[in-house]
Amino acid sequence: MHRYRGDAIHRPYNESVATSSRLALTDIQGLTVRPDASLSEYTRFGIGGPADLLIETADETAFTAALALLREQGRPHVVIGSGTNLVVSDAGFRGTVLRYTASSICREGLMVECDAGVELMDLVRYTVDQDLQGIQTLMGIPGAVGGAVYGNAGAYGHSISEVVRAVRFFDGFTIRNVSGEGCEFRYRESVFKRNRNWIVLRARMEFSEGDGPGLRKTADEILAIRNEKFPPTLKCAGSIFKNLHEAELPAAVRAEVPDKVVREGKIPSAWFLEQVGAKDSWEGRIHIAPYHANLIYNAGGATAEELCRMIARLKKAVFARFGILLEEEVQYVGFEGEPAAYGATGSVAGRVASGKAS
Ligand SMILES: Cc1cc2nc3c(=O)[nH]c(=O)nc-3n(C[C@H](O)[C@H](O)[C@H](O)COP(=O)(O)OP(=O)(O)OC[C@H]3O[C@@H](n4cnc5c(N)ncnc54)[C@H](O)[C@@H]3O)c2cc1C
Repeated sequence: MHRYRGDAIHRPYNESVATSSRLALTDIQGLTVRPDASLSEYTRFGIGGPADLLIETADETAFTAALALLREQGRPHVVIGSGTNLVVSDAGFRGTVLRYTASSICREGLMVECDAGVELMDLVRYTVDQDLQGIQTLMGIPGAVGGAVYGNAGAYGHSISEVVRAVRFFDGFTIRNVSGEGCEFRYRESVFKRNRNWIVLRARMEFSEGDGPGLRKTADEILAIRNEKFPPTLKCAGSIFKNLHEAELPAAVRAEVPDKVVREGKIPSAWFLEQVGAKDSWEGRIHIAPYHANLIYNAGGATAEELCRMIARLKKAVFARFGILLEEEVQYVGFEGEPAAYGATGSVAGRVASGKAS
């Protein structure tokens, strides 16, 4: 259950976080530390081995002190949110996984400030209840606000970037503030994806006045559609691959794609996957939904190795047929070298002391 605290909307920025290399994590007040924590419990896929340490806290001072300490000591670490977009290796993560669980939301006029640990769906509900228009079509996207800002989450032609005006973040040394423009949002991209040590703490968003019942109707209808497509118990990460920009496709490939498939200048990667017969196929206990070629799920007891093998197989098939390389939307944690070893080619966290999964 999240608290909606009416705390001060502006907190000071540019606070540097002092640590001493003699300090241990156990010296930092306010952290919950779990050794040997199974990461399968922290991912929607339900896949992944243990992390050496898992740290959770809702306290910003403790969280940034832990991050600063781990960076200073050169210890591998990674920040995760609700784990809805993660592929964690079967070996787990040799280092520290951190989760920031602060969950306050507050409003001042048309501005809303929200901690990174708030679930995006709770934020959508909050804004709809407050007659604020802007993110009602994001209803049903699982995960926390930090992860949503990191990956510029969106659906139905809209994304969180449209409302974000500022983000409070920790850069490994200091707490800073970046404007919405400075977030350099693009389709499923942001400045936080390119700067591994930049960790989102809080977002400041601007909405317009909306008609509550109308907003609620939109949000409820979208949630019903999404729940049918992605039942809440389905162990998946939504779409595995990013959609493709129509303008960036080779002309010969574009010519093969029916116009009716193109949406807002993008071609769903599902279309390419369908052409190579992906629907309803299996790799061990990993299954592709018969109704959606970009929806890969754990049918029960699957491993990361099976999942990576499936991802690699699909990329290879699409490349062989169209000469294009699909790019994963999911982020990898705990893979040494390329996530595979099994042939997938996404980038990896955990080889060095890094801020987050990617
Ligand atoms: C059923 C289903 C449907 C989905 N539908 C959609 C959709 O329609 N649109 C869409 O955009 N996405 C969708 N997703 C993907 C996922 O919901 C989003 O990517 C979500 O925003 C991830 O948030 P998270 O908290 O789960 O992040 P995680 O999966 O925990 O982490 C994802 C990445 O964010 C980074 N990260 C997490 N927190 C922070 C932070 N505080 N600061 C910096 N980096 C951070 C992590 O290091 C990692 O690289 C779907 C997923 C599922 C399971």
